Amino acid sequence: MANEGRTPVSAFMRSAIERSSWIRQMFEEGNRLKQIHGADQVFDFSLGNPSVPPPSAFRDVLVQVAGESRASDHRYMTNVGLIETREWVAGRARETHGLDDIDASCVVMTCGAAGGLNIFFRSILDPGDEIILLSPYFPEYLFYVENHGGKVVVVPTDGEFQPDLDAIEAAVTERTRAIVINSPNNPTGVVYRAELVEELGRRVDRIADERGAPLFLVSDEPYRRLIYTDARQPSALAACRHGIVCTSFSKDLGLAGERIGYVLLNPRYARRGDLFGALAIATRTLGFVNAPAFMQRVLPRCGDLSVDLGKYRANRDLIVDGLREAGYEMPSPDGAFFVFPAVPGGDDVAFCHLLRERRVLTVPGRGFGTPGHIRISYAVEPRVIERALPRFAEALQAAAAEHGEG
Ligand code: PLP
Repeated sequence: MANEGRTPVSAFMRSAIERSSWIRQMFEEGNRLKQIHGADQVFDFSLGNPSVPPPSAFRDVLVQVAGESRASDHRYMTNVGLIETREWVAGRARETHGLDDIDASCVVMTCGAAGGLNIFFRSILDPGDEIILLSPYFPEYLFYVENHGGKVVVVPTDGEFQPDLDAIEAAVTERTRAIVINSPNNPTGVVYRAELVEELGRRVDRIADERGAPLFLVSDEPYRRLIYTDARQPSALAACRHGIVCTSFSKDLGLAGERIGYVLLNPRYARRGDLFGALAIATRTLGFVNAPAFMQRVLPRCGDLSVDLGKYRANRDLIVDGLREAGYEMPSPDGAFFVFPAVPGGDDVAFCHLLRERRVLTVPGRGFGTPGHIRISYAVEPRVIERALPRFAEALQAAAAEHGEG
């Protein structure tokens, strides 16, 4: 075979592939174990893929909309999305955020929350501009920021995975363009305390006003409607003129594969028109063009539909009680479908190996910027949790014995 010379893959993508390798390894190892032992003998807690399906009424809406489909419904549309969909989103957002002046001009429909974050970063970042992330964070943020020439600055949360406001403020430089918060959080399941987010919002407005240059508080909140306790989910939009929301229907309607979400701009942000115009063009320049047309027609008929939260809540109780009984320690997860316990000895990769030897797949915390923990996704069938709990207990005992605690 002729020598093909150097790899066609860019240095940027080589680095992205290298940094994703632990996820790939986990995935490949999972497949290998499933082939050897059979899928039902492998306990896979590594994926954040919704396990609770959309409600049956959602299917009825799909059928109805498909039946009414006209030839013109499948063409390109205004990049920001259909007006009736944006009005529906705005109406719900007025209630959620308690802001009467949210209207369709605040809404850009996107390809999931990920599409929203990408068009937002594309719109605000010049090369070398900084975005502050709070660790532990959703690992894809690193790529979303770097895709558009930005530089990530990581600020750890406190011992309860809550934002450390002074540390965040100390990390803000002239190049900082946004602070990203994610509550309920992936990977911890923690809901950020409302008073902390409100105070952070005040500080962001103050800094932006003092320096006369924008600084945004971006709330990535696809798990907003997946909260199982009486924790109050804060509104970054209400707390801060520079607050914006990127979110989706991936989790609360179980539509992750349909790629439908939106960016919600702040009605009180004076330069909102500039940002809206940039987002509208970014959807095109990045090749998304517009959010999926069919889903945009479906959504306004969905009212307040959501997946059966009771199923996630039951999983959460089962796994949190079981893990705590076995001796795992973690702050109480209020929402989403993840727990993030600490591991004995602090070596998260070694601990994931111990679990893997028992055919239990989890993800090391270092992938989320926080070594010493593992992420367990409980978006699985309850019997997977029931059968895996003794294995979690065994792995903890094995690690404790190794570290002289057993
Ligand atoms: N943000 C967080 C915190 C997530 O966990 C996810 C998906 O898992 C996303 C964003 C991406 O969401 P979407 O599928 O709507 O693009």
